[in-house]
Amino acid sequence: ANLVAIVGRPNVGKSTLFNRLTQSRRAIVSETAGTTRDRQYGKCTWNAKEFSVVDTGGWVVNSDDIFEDAIRRQVIVATQEADLVLFLVDVTTGVTDWDEDVATILRRAKLPTILVANKVDNSSAYYEAAEFYKLGLGEPRCISAATGGGTGDLLDTLVDMLPQENPEIIEEEIPRFAVVGRPNAGKSSIINAFIGEDRNIVTEIAGTTRDSIYTRFGKFGFDFYLVDTAGIRRKNKVTEDLEFYSVMRSIRAIENSDVCLLMLDATRGIEAQDMNIFQLIQKNNKSLVVVVNKWDLVEDKSQKVINTFEAAIRSRMAPFVDFPIIFASALTKQRIFRVLETAKQVYLNRKARVGTAKLNEVMLPIIEAFPPPSIKGKYIKIKYCTQLPNTQIPSFVFYANLPQYVKENYRRFLENKIRENWSMHGCPINIFIRQK
Ligand code: GDP
Repeated sequence: ANLVAIVGRPNVGKSTLFNRLTQSRRAIVSETAGTTRDRQYGKCTWNAKEFSVVDTGGWVVNSDDIFEDAIRRQVIVATQEADLVLFLVDVTTGVTDWDEDVATILRRAKLPTILVANKVDNSSAYYEAAEFYKLGLGEPRCISAATGGGTGDLLDTLVDMLPQENPEIIEEEIPRFAVVGRPNAGKSSIINAFIGEDRNIVTEIAGTTRDSIYTRFGKFGFDFYLVDTAGIRRKNKVTEDLEFYSVMRSIRAIENSDVCLLMLDATRGIEAQDMNIFQLIQKNNKSLVVVVNKWDLVEDKSQKVINTFEAAIRSRMAPFVDFPIIFASALTKQRIFRVLETAKQVYLNRKARVGTAKLNEVMLPIIEAFPPPSIKGKYIKIKYCTQLPNTQIPSFVFYANLPQYVKENYRRFLENKIRENWSMHGCPINIFIRQK
């Protein structure tokens, strides 16, 4: 999907606009969320076009305190990674030096940019907005993110300006793996280890406007695509230290993959940046393999240390805990083959189909033994379950007389029982409770 970045000074209303653009969709996906930093990345559908939105301000803990330089660098990253930029300015403060600076960056970047004047809540503000014309980015579009005024027209313009997406022709049955992680986790190194000296690339798919997203490999007896490897190799030292950088870098790769290999650095453990990327993976319903890289640098490789590591990772990612963790070294190539093999298995798990008869045979006795707790004297009965056909991830429906009374923790119980009985390792699954 196309990626739209919202940039602008602190307090111009970026997150209000972001919420407005992503709200409806978020309500739908929030079942899987459990995330604390939802403000930063979301999806929007308008006129049947879907795109992703990133709020650059969402990556700054306290926007008021951030150095203007850091925000400026975020804008640079946004111009490199996004397909369109919404440059938000504030009519109540008028044009600032910083706005002019950013306008210069955006004009040079030569990518579709919409200048948006926010806080236009009354007619006099319309006249004030004209001042922003001097930023050289055309006529400002006037909106009030708070009330929603003008946002419909803005969205009409936006989807018209989004570049045409030319989907690359890829073979659907071949797994697509994305290697993601923060800078220096070892992404490029592990890809080189996968490829080896012979660079046994089957096909380089012709790129369209930017470099090809997929590179196909035939290695170790099976075919797979690595997603956005070019993006991984192309580095930018100016902005690499920004938390925002690794996120922007990851979005496209994650969106276009089936299975994400999340690279952690064994010498650093799991940090906020890793969690941000993990949340992107989760929001996109992708499967996960965690690779603890640089294992060669860890002296004590005892089982106790391994267990501690694993427990720490799983507790950070809870409630999703059913995924493989592999301790590897891109440098010495220890367990490199295992990483790919596991990714392939996790990909197959994504396609798992459980027959309805078998599912009921296993699940109904469990439900009978541990029924959902009755509420206000009402018994909740689940009589039947089935797996939905043709879904992105395995999705199960349980039919109940009073679905509204089945609580989240019972859904989780059902999910765990499914995971115990069928291998969905590494794979998110959906559990729906519906009226029978
Ligand atoms: P990227 O930014 O995630 O692509 O990370 P790189 O692949 O460029 O690796 C960053 C640094 O870590 C480089 O100096 C690598 O040589 C080093 N590195 C990567 N993997 C390993 C590993 O398994 N063991 C050790 N000791 N160093 C590694």
